[in-house]
Amino acid sequence: MARELARRSLPSGQTALVVMSEVADGDVAPGDVAVGGPGRLPATDGIPPAGLLADAPRPWTALDQVHGATVAVVDRAGAASGVPADAAVTDRPGVALSIRVADCVPVALLGGSAIAAVHAGWRGLASGVLDAALDALADLDGGWDGPDAGGVVAVVGPHIGPCCYEFGADDLADLVATFGAEVAAETVDGRPALDLAAAVAVALGRRGVTAAFDGTCTSCDDRHWSFRATGTTCRQAMLAWMEPARETAG
Ligand SMILES: [Zn+2]
Repeated sequence: MARELARRSLPSGQTALVVMSEVADGDVAPGDVAVGGPGRLPATDGIPPAGLLADAPRPWTALDQVHGATVAVVDRAGAASGVPADAAVTDRPGVALSIRVADCVPVALLGGSAIAAVHAGWRGLASGVLDAALDALADLDGGWDGPDAGGVVAVVGPHIGPCCYEFGADDLADLVATFGAEVAAETVDGRPALDLAAAVAVALGRRGVTAAFDGTCTSCDDRHWSFRATGTTCRQAMLAWMEPARETAG
């Protein structure tokens, strides 16, 4: 069942939570788009509120993820659902940001008083989606400026590992040019592979952000769906939200 990847007290006094769903929690892919378009469907349609998923405020914001670098600013629960974007940012408690994945990298960015959730596949990484999300987070957070985002903590969820992520030589060369030689790896059977975690670490490290990696490979570990492994249309979700600061007694 869903597991907690992070629970962190922010400088603002709010508590940020990051939860990852698993196969056992059900498919969180958007509903049938033919019914009314993804923007018209509640983000939580058909997803039973069980376990840790029940703790996330509803409806979730569920972007129309398009492997780009657009960031949506979310000011109330469920806002920006269906909007074409690959990152969402909010400074409002009680707003759950969701990122749906089945091999791509879900990343939560926890600032001083605001959070972001990012869909980081290889195309998004190459497009600078993490930089765009950090810039949007800085705008909301107010407490930091410029390229150094050293106060931000990143939480990186399960994604496909280099063990299982055979990758084309031309695209791999482009990513090496962008992120460095450490993103080039090998699969378990010795084929050229992309190390997505290394690319995430480089992109965040350039901004001074340290990251905690879950380390699970979605293809190796059957708690998760993997598009590469099975061609599935099912998705798991990373959910990130803030709980309000507690009133102190007296
Ligand atoms: Zn693997």
